[in-house]
Amino acid sequence: MMRQFELVERVTSYDPQADEDALNRAYVYAMKMHGSQLRASGDPYFSHPIEVAGILTNYKLDCASIITALLHDTIEDTAATMADIEKMFGPDIARMVDGVTKLSRIELQSDHSKQAENFRKLVLAMSEDIRVLLVKLADRTHNMRTLHYIRNPDKRKRIALETMEIYAPLAERIGMSEVKSELEDLAFAELHGDVRDSIVARLNYLREQGGGLIDRILTQLNEIMGENGVEAEVAGREKSPFSIWRKMQMKNVAFEQLSDIMAFRVTVASVEDCYRALGVIHSHYPMVPNRFKDYISTPKPNGYRSLHTGVFGPERHRIEVQIRTQDMHEVAELGVAAHWSYKQSQQTDGRQYRWLRELLDIMEHASNPEEFLEHTKLEMFQDQVFCFTPKGDLIALPRGACPVDFAYAVHSQVGDRCVGAKINGRIMPLRTPLANGDQVEIITSKAQTPNPTWERFVVTGKARARVRRFIRTQQRAQYVDLGRAILNRAFKQEGYDFTEKGLEGVLKIFKAASVEDLVVEVGEGHLTGRDVVSAVYPELKTAQQKAQAQQQADNIINLKPRQTPKKPGNATPIKGLDAGVAMHFAGCCHPLPGDRIVGIVTTGKGVTIHTIDCESLEQFADTPERWLDLAWNVEPEDKDVHLGRIDVIMANEPNSLGNITTVIAKNLGNITNLKFTNRNPDFFEMIIDVEVRDVKHLTNIIAALRASPAINSVERARS
Ligand code: MN
Repeated sequence: MMRQFELVERVTSYDPQADEDALNRAYVYAMKMHGSQLRASGDPYFSHPIEVAGILTNYKLDCASIITALLHDTIEDTAATMADIEKMFGPDIARMVDGVTKLSRIELQSDHSKQAENFRKLVLAMSEDIRVLLVKLADRTHNMRTLHYIRNPDKRKRIALETMEIYAPLAERIGMSEVKSELEDLAFAELHGDVRDSIVARLNYLREQGGGLIDRILTQLNEIMGENGVEAEVAGREKSPFSIWRKMQMKNVAFEQLSDIMAFRVTVASVEDCYRALGVIHSHYPMVPNRFKDYISTPKPNGYRSLHTGVFGPERHRIEVQIRTQDMHEVAELGVAAHWSYKQSQQTDGRQYRWLRELLDIMEHASNPEEFLEHTKLEMFQDQVFCFTPKGDLIALPRGACPVDFAYAVHSQVGDRCVGAKINGRIMPLRTPLANGDQVEIITSKAQTPNPTWERFVVTGKARARVRRFIRTQQRAQYVDLGRAILNRAFKQEGYDFTEKGLEGVLKIFKAASVEDLVVEVGEGHLTGRDVVSAVYPELKTAQQKAQAQQQADNIINLKPRQTPKKPGNATPIKGLDAGVAMHFAGCCHPLPGDRIVGIVTTGKGVTIHTIDCESLEQFADTPERWLDLAWNVEPEDKDVHLGRIDVIMANEPNSLGNITTVIAKNLGNITNLKFTNRNPDFFEMIIDVEVRDVKHLTNIIAALRASPAINSVERARS
């Protein structure tokens, strides 16, 4: 384990500006907080954060990252809180420690290997600061190095699989191939230990057979470079057991056929020298076809640049050669982490990923490495959020998505039937925007149907399309019912029976494609019932029509004004109706079951229901053909609630408002809105909307309110 002064010395050796005091405090704090906790290896727990910090000093990371590494497990595993850390080390360190803690928490959510790609994106999206990701990768590296101490084989396997599928690709993505190779090989040893053993044994055998082959090839390559005046440093190595195994799998070849198990690297001073070195190699050895790749002119998305070629080299052995400059080498091994030690020399052309390009931009324009790190925010996938189902499946959604979008992403049926949502275990409104890593549980009910108001806040196309389609079918069904009722009445007035068959002959006159379409036209108010009757019976005399039309008010249509399917709980039918459905209650008089009601047909909007004494009915006095007499058809066991509105004047005294709400609640009314309309020093006037069963229920509430001493007057609102 690295001692305190050694760690500080390592950091100050590459960063003389480092805050030694803070480093010392973080070291001591981690040690104190982890106290006597032990690792699976039997080592004291605090050796882990110190090792993680040590790994990061190899990449010459800034002081803040090293402090974050020292503190990275304190929030999750000790009594330390965010507030403690912020107080001791400032908001930036606290934010980074919080970031690493959040990443560790989502790891525990489930088995992610099924959805590796989404999980990788989630980790990237959550690592808003790239240093958070670097600390997490170092954390994982140390945990993998000590994986064999964990007793439980299932746990070892899970961690190894996660490393292979999530963290190694992430390391690759940000160009840290050294970390990537180490993680892969450690995971490989756990997942396929026997395969790895046999590859290692085979490599040992070949090495003995070759008798210093790598050294002989190195010598030859060095010689030809020197003879041709290219100053180069040549290094050689065997490929890692894992990369050999992957090649065997990908090409489906046996180990014996896999000859290029040796890789050589030629490091030169400039880009021109790279191509000169390539020329030297190609003029001395035959090329293996299709193995040449120029990643200098076309860098890999993660910023990697090099020339690759395969040749039949010294002693006719097939070898792979990579040619690069020292700068390119640093980037190849350390990726993003290399950028702040080499901030001058990189070119940004050809970089495909915006985030990396921005990163390099910042790198080139930042005046010092600290500034560079400050600005290095990962902006990848910022337009997406990733959330978990209770089973741990990941759902990717556009930013701003809400639980309804989530429900539809899980399954259309789940969306159609969702009535509520728990986010991270708490009941939250369906319109709540989701955040990365949220666990979302959708509560469904078979009685639920899509709510038209959802259309206002869903963001996914799937959710919007389903809600719209539902509204359309629902509206149409309601317009059909309404149209039938209107036609029935119109035919009866003329002394005929209404049949749908009778309409078939007049479809052409109204340019309707089907009987149902024609009925909908009537329901929507584009045609009157009388228009249709006179078309079916052209012999009807106009005078006769007029005389009979005046009697229409006596005919009552027995309609159930609420056509939406029943909703569970206290969902209000008003919401289901006010989205332009065939029947809706007028906002002026708020009719309730028990009120005498009348409907006004409005072209294209169906019917608006008013109480018979509503003042706004005066404006329709001249158009009797638009009036529909309606009656309630409510069964006694009906649990539906309706919106009643009352005007209240109360004394301005302590707790008068409390009294009012208590009285309403005691009488089982649910307040949905409350608005002050007038405020004097003595009296307050307000409007209260209450959900009630019917007019009797509202009358009871009004009577109870009138009995309350704080209340001056209570009336049902009538305007
Ligand atoms: Mn850790």
